[in-house]
Amino acid sequence: MSIDLHCHSYVSDGALAPADVVRHAHANGCTLLALTDHDHTGGLNEARQEANALGLSFVNGVEISVTWRGRTIHIVGLDFDEQHAGLQALLQQVRQGRLERLEAIAARLAQKGISGAYEGALSETIHPEMVSRTHIAAFLIKQGHVRNKAEAFRRYLGDGKCCGVRHQWADLATVIDMIRAAGGMAVIAHPMRYDLSATARRNLFSEFKALGGVAIEVHSGRMSANDRINYALLARQFEFLASSGSDFHREGDFGGGQLGACPDLPAECQPIWSHFRRKYQ
Ligand code: AMP
Ligand code: MN
Ligand code: MN
Ligand code: MN
Repeated sequence: MSIDLHCHSYVSDGALAPADVVRHAHANGCTLLALTDHDHTGGLNEARQEANALGLSFVNGVEISVTWRGRTIHIVGLDFDEQHAGLQALLQQVRQGRLERLEAIAARLAQKGISGAYEGALSETIHPEMVSRTHIAAFLIKQGHVRNKAEAFRRYLGDGKCCGVRHQWADLATVIDMIRAAGGMAVIAHPMRYDLSATARRNLFSEFKALGGVAIEVHSGRMSANDRINYALLARQFEFLASSGSDFHREGDFGGGQLGACPDLPAECQPIWSHFRRKYQ
């Protein structure tokens, strides 16, 4: 099987339509796919229909923004009922926070002499409330303030940079509870990307586990085989299932791997896909 349980469409900050994400994944040999847009499930129907037409297995996914001890952590939900009212209310609340954060970022950019970021970033989105820093970066590029996205994050939008506003996302316990209430499984996305000390990582993993989280991404993006082995060991220590995803947003993007074609997990991993409602081997 070729599996990808983490990728994005233009419903959040990816470049492709949900159906095109599925087509590209299929062309790359993918047999089991989850679309995991940030804080939004609006692409799932279109993606599932395309997957059915192509004979590709599809599970529901979402990547939810969480604040844990003052840091932003991403939690992927997999194989949940997207109609669940509580989950949808939570996602809506997180997206409302995105609009408030955009206002704050636009105000800081205005102080730097860059006006119009609020409207400019919204005009880059499909769903206005699902506005991400990627859309603000697109505005900055169009206006000629930066040459590319990396420069937008380095000069303005990155964590700790002049316009990188700190934001309070959803609470970890609430997010795990809601994913579970909707029948799904909660996964720590790209655990290697948070710049955590070994102690902080241990605390995160223990708390996540105690709250009902079941898996970590043992593979994400363009991780090295060595890192996969390290995270496979951690998964085993904490008795987590293992997930795997490209975190694809667009061709040639920062950090993202090839859509639909993740490398095999180390043999000792317990794959999360054997525990989905429909079991895959
Ligand atoms: P947000 O959820 O709106 O804070 O935006 C975070 C998104 O921006 C991530 O999901 C990545 O897709 C992207 N991103 C984060 N850091 C960088 C970076 N340094 N360079 C380019 N893209 C980034
Ligand atoms: Mn993203
Ligand atoms: Mn993420
Ligand atoms: Mn992602």
